[in-house]
Amino acid sequence: MASFKSYKCKECGYEVWAEPQGFHALMTGQYYQFRCNACKRIVSISAQDLAEMQYDPRCPECHAGHEHLFTWNPIEGHCPKCNGEMECDSGVVIMAD
Ligand SMILES: [Zn+2]
Ligand SMILES: [Zn+2]
Repeated sequence: MASFKSYKCKECGYEVWAEPQGFHALMTGQYYQFRCNACKRIVSISAQDLAEMQYDPRCPECHAGHEHLFTWNPIEGHCPKCNGEMECDSGVVIMAD
């Protein structure tokens, strides 16, 4: 079970649904959140995909290499677009297995 919260950048309004811890587990597996410096988005990569990529992850959106990907969580992380502060925006969506 995973609970997602909506986080919104105070500066530019970029919004992302994210797990506060930076990873989540669903029936389909565990997912880790990354910040992609190439397309400036928050992306999720499953543990299975990471293993298949031999822990050399690529961005699922723009296929940038691991040098552009950084693990990310909304508590410590900043907006991928403008580096602004992210604030918790609204309620929680529970995704249950
Ligand atoms: Zn921003
Ligand atoms: Zn990317």
